[in-house]
Amino acid sequence: MIVMKFGGTSVKDAESIIRVFEIVKNHNNKKFVVVSAQAGVTDKIVDLINNLKNNHIENAYDLIEQIRNQHILTAQKLKLKKSVIYELEKKIDELKNIIFALSILGELSPKSQAKLLSFGEDLSVLTIFEYFKKGYDRVKFLDSRLLIKTDNEYTSANVDFRLTKESVGKQLSKHSDYNVYLTQGFVASNKYGETTTLGRGGSDYSASVIASVIGANELKIYTDVDGIMTSDPRFIKNVKLIKRLSYDEASELAFFGAKVLHPKTITPAIEKNIPVVVLNTFNPNKSGTTIIRSKSGINIVKAIVFRKNVTIINIISNRMLGTYGFLSKVFEIFNKYCTPVDIVATSEVSISLTIDDIKNLKSIVDELRKIAKISLKRNMAIISAIGEGIRDTAGIAARFFGILRGINITMVSIGASEVNLSIVLSEKDLFKAVQLLHDEFLTDTENYDIFSHLN
Ligand code: ADP
Ligand code: ASP
Ligand code: MG
Repeated sequence: MIVMKFGGTSVKDAESIIRVFEIVKNHNNKKFVVVSAQAGVTDKIVDLINNLKNNHIENAYDLIEQIRNQHILTAQKLKLKKSVIYELEKKIDELKNIIFALSILGELSPKSQAKLLSFGEDLSVLTIFEYFKKGYDRVKFLDSRLLIKTDNEYTSANVDFRLTKESVGKQLSKHSDYNVYLTQGFVASNKYGETTTLGRGGSDYSASVIASVIGANELKIYTDVDGIMTSDPRFIKNVKLIKRLSYDEASELAFFGAKVLHPKTITPAIEKNIPVVVLNTFNPNKSGTTIIRSKSGINIVKAIVFRKNVTIINIISNRMLGTYGFLSKVFEIFNKYCTPVDIVATSEVSISLTIDDIKNLKSIVDELRKIAKISLKRNMAIISAIGEGIRDTAGIAARFFGILRGINITMVSIGASEVNLSIVLSEKDLFKAVQLLHDEFLTDTENYDIFSHLN
C-alpha cells in the first residue's frame, strides 16, 4: 500500500480536485489518500478564532460566509448532488452555531479551538469523497479521528503510535476490500474521542504517521511546487530543485524552516525506512524530490533554509563558573513551560539560546531572573546550511562566514549532527544573507545528479 497526501493548494478548487482524482486513479496500488483543508481555509478559521477572542463576532460570521461560498462553489463546479451541498451547508451551520455558543459563553479553550480548526479538513474531505465516489466504486472514507490517536494537547497534539497502529489496523481489517481509503490530514482525536489537531501544516505528519503504522511502501507528498528546492522560492532567486535528500537532511531542512514539509514528517518514515517523495500536483510527471536513508553528495551544501520570528534569551551568571547543575536548572524552566529551545551557545559565564514559541516568555524570564541576569533580543532569524558532512569540511565553513563579511552574526551553532551549520542574525539582514549564501553555494552547482534547474 502507498500513502498519498495532497496539501491545501492541491485541493483548493474544483479543477485541482479533478487533477487529484486523476493522479490517484493512475496509481494501480492500493492507497491511503490524506487531504488537507482547501487552501486558505485554516487561515480563515485562525482569523475567526482571533475575532472571537476580541469579541468581533460580525467579522467571525463574515469569515464563515466566505468559507461557505468557497465550498459551495467547489461542490457546484464538481457537479455534486444536491444532498451533498445540503450536507456541506449543514456542517457550516454547525460551525456557525458553535461560534455563537462560544461567543455567549465567552469560552475559547484549546479543546474548542481544535474543534473549530478541524472544520477545514472535514469540509474538504467530504467534498473530495463525494467526487471520488462518482468515479470509483471502491473508495472508503475513514474519519481520521478513528485512526490517529493523540494526547490532550488539543492544538498541537502528540501521537500515540501504539494506539494509532491498533486503531488503523482495526479499521483496515473491517474494511479490507477497498482500493482507496480517504481521510483528513491534521485532525485526530484523544482517547475520549475528542477532536485534537497536530499543529499548523500537520497534514504531512498525519500522512507519515499512517505510512509508518501500515508499513507503506512509499509516502508521496503532493504540493504546489516541483519538490524541495535549494531555498524558499517565494523569497530567493535562482533556486533549484533537489532530486535526492537523506532522511537527516530532510529532517533538518524541515525543522529549520522549509515550509514545504512539516518538521515532524520524516521521523516516522525513518523507523520503517519508507521512501518519501515530494511531488507537484500540477506537474505530476516530474520526478520531484526523493528522501531516502542513503546519503548522497557528501560535503555538498544542498539547501539554505531559514526561520523568522526567533527570540534570543541571554542568560548571564557568575554562578556558572566552575559549578555544575546550572544548565539543568535553566532547562528545567523551559521544560516546565513546554517551550522548545532550538539553538544553544554557552561560555563560562553565559548561555544564549533561541526560542520560537514566545507564549510563555514572560513566565520563563521571570523564573530565569531568580537565578541570572537576563536580556532578550527579538526579531531575529536563523539561517541553516543543510547537507551531509558540510560541517566537517573546513572549506565550506570558511566560505560560509567569508561571504557574510559585514553582516552581524549573533550566534553560531555547530551541533552534533554533521548535516547543518546554523547562524542567528537580525531579521533585517535575513534575505540579503540567504541570497548571498545561496549564490555562493548553489548557483553554479552543475551536479545534475542531485540538482536540476527549474523550468
Ligand atoms: P501544502 O498546502 O501542499 O502543504 P505548503 O504551502 O505547506 O503546501 O508548502 C509548499 C510551499 O512551501 C511552496 O509553495 C513554497 O512556496 C514553500 N517553500 C518554502 N521553502 C521551500 C523549499 N525549500 N522548497 C520548496 N518549497 C518551499
Ligand atoms: N490545514 C492545516 C493547516 O493549514 C494542515 C495542513 O494544511 O497541513 O495548517
Ligand atoms: Mg503544508
